[in-house]
Amino acid sequence: MKVTFLGTGTSQGIPVIGSSHPVCLSTNPKDKRLRVSVMIEWKSYTFVIDCGPDFRQQMLRANCTKIDGIIFTHEHADHTAGLDDIRPFVHRQGDIPIYAHERVIGELEKRFDYIFETENRYPGAPSVIKNRITNNPFEIGEMLVQPVNGIHYNLQVFGYRFQDFAYLTDMNSIADEEMSKLQNLDVLVINALRVTSHPSHFNLDEALDIIDELKPKRAYLTHISHHLGFHDEVQQNLPKNVYLAYDNLQITI
Ligand SMILES: [Zn+2]
Repeated sequence: MKVTFLGTGTSQGIPVIGSSHPVCLSTNPKDKRLRVSVMIEWKSYTFVIDCGPDFRQQMLRANCTKIDGIIFTHEHADHTAGLDDIRPFVHRQGDIPIYAHERVIGELEKRFDYIFETENRYPGAPSVIKNRITNNPFEIGEMLVQPVNGIHYNLQVFGYRFQDFAYLTDMNSIADEEMSKLQNLDVLVINALRVTSHPSHFNLDEALDIIDELKPKRAYLTHISHHLGFHDEVQQNLPKNVYLAYDNLQITI
């Protein structure tokens, strides 16, 4: 399985528009972060988790020519706002499968009503196949995927486990019974927004505590704010086998 970090930034991305914060002014490519998303490839399959406002740029940057589906974690705009840009894939492949909690599909239907319209559709409008995700494992591309529930302030969010790889973003707490779904991982990706605490995201210490509890072989931090600091400086102070993800990073599991 190959995972490409398409974006590793928090909701505004880094640099933030108009910001003179030193991290936003950094010339290190690792300090430039599009909105959070990953592409996961195995066998001949390519799936993307979330589809934020940078989706078009991310697909171009990754030279992605085909997707087998988009799996959503939750409905916030930084995870969904790029859905219109699936059009080139729809034109080549037909309707694109989407996978999400029923509530998230409902939100997408409100925001992108023309995509879900069944009568008098605008020619050229994107089209999708809806797949509702519950707490139960679901099969995509000959693989069973285990949803993992997290809390994002007051919102339920799905993380996903693909065999020995798990991807968690936009969480600030995980119940014990959900933690039990995350044992014996090769790779855990988890959100770590910044150093100080935040009501809807793990901060660095909270993410490191979860990594310490789950003990994956390797862990990568994502959904990063400029307030976390410069990539290279933060990386130097992380425990062994914990890495700050950065855009375009590829890992093999
Ligand atoms: Zn969110």
